[in-house]
Amino acid sequence: MSRRALITGITGQDGSYLAEHLLSLGYQVWGLIRGQANPRKSRISRLVSDVSFVNGDLLDQGSLVAAVDLVQPDEVYNLAAISFVPMSWQQAELTTDVNGMGVLRTLEAIRLVCGLDKSRSSTGQIRFYQASSSEMFGKVVESPQHEMTNFHPRSPYGVAKTYGHFITRNYRESFNMYGVSGILFNHESPRRGAEFVTRKISLAVAQIKLGRQDKLYLGNLDAVRDWGFAGDYVRAMHLMLQQDEPTDYVVGTGRTHSVYDAVRMAFEYVGLNWRDHVVIDPGLVRPAEVETLCADPGRARDELGWEPTVSFEQLIHMMVESDLLNVSRERELGDLILASSW
Ligand code: NDP
Ligand code: GDP
Repeated sequence: MSRRALITGITGQDGSYLAEHLLSLGYQVWGLIRGQANPRKSRISRLVSDVSFVNGDLLDQGSLVAAVDLVQPDEVYNLAAISFVPMSWQQAELTTDVNGMGVLRTLEAIRLVCGLDKSRSSTGQIRFYQASSSEMFGKVVESPQHEMTNFHPRSPYGVAKTYGHFITRNYRESFNMYGVSGILFNHESPRRGAEFVTRKISLAVAQIKLGRQDKLYLGNLDAVRDWGFAGDYVRAMHLMLQQDEPTDYVVGTGRTHSVYDAVRMAFEYVGLNWRDHVVIDPGLVRPAEVETLCADPGRARDELGWEPTVSFEQLIHMMVESDLLNVSRERELGDLILASSW
């Protein structure tokens, strides 16, 4: 019988790539959908066929118990979150509830359903993946960052993710659950939300190239990140749940670039000079910035056999190509409006 996976955050960037990957491996894939008429449900159905849906919300314990009980998954991937760092200052309490307490509620749902289901011998039967983040490192104390590096989160988002990370570890130690956290560094794609800097740049470059926009407003161009391709990172999520012993992994490329590098590469790709179009907006600088992040993905490489396949330059070009197509077809208008508001 094929294995069953339940993905929270199915409508997001990673949810769609993970669903495609698991389907290609023969899994039955279920996605948790929140809200009465979530408009992103039809988007994910268009992108990935053969996904089944179950209603639920990370803010609602009962709905998570019901979802796990209905799906009876072998693997649960908790990708749901308020994922945009600046939003976490505007809605700090909500972010903490979804990104922190939501992890606890999902773990509890698994524990309760496993306890109720007599055919499952222990809580170790459902394997759990938590989407932890390099934002937990925040103000870095050493570089590159690995699994033993201390955390110093710099935003309510990072603080809530740190709670989710440790509660996952605690359930592993307390209840012998197979629960792991992937500490993923920034990963992007043509499906990335338009508020994140790489997609904001690729959309703006496409708009400017096609004569629909003239200026691109950005904050801190000196920020440095370890950026990879989302399609590569979902393979690591799956591999983490196939190991004999559950443990946490850092996933990144080990290579860094600045926001400035992304800007220059994107504009050069379409034959434009970024200096003619980019304007620094101090309002986009964050209250507490994470200046630089760089992964040491040694454990993921050695134990999972995981390697990234897409370079930063290929990633930026892929995103610009895709947005040139989107803009010329006048699709994703909602995303374009969002892009200009951050
Ligand atoms: P997205 O922002 O694209 O997707 C977030 C998902 O969470 C959406 O499907 C959204 O659903 C869902 N969601 C939000 N609130 C709730 C809730 N209360 N109940 C149920 N679902 C909810 O994120 P990504 O795909 O980029 O990231 C996936 C995960 O990985 C996130 O947890 C993120 O924090 C983490 N992460 C991402 C990194 C990256 O670079 N992309 C790096 C490190 C970690 P809806 O359609 O209902 O809004
Ligand atoms: P994050 O690393 O998860 O916060 O991902 P983002 O893509 O939102 O931001 C990456 C870096 O780009 C951060 O250090 C931001 O401060 C920086 N940055 C500079 N200008 C902008 C901007 O206009 N929008 C966003 N989202 N980030 C910006």
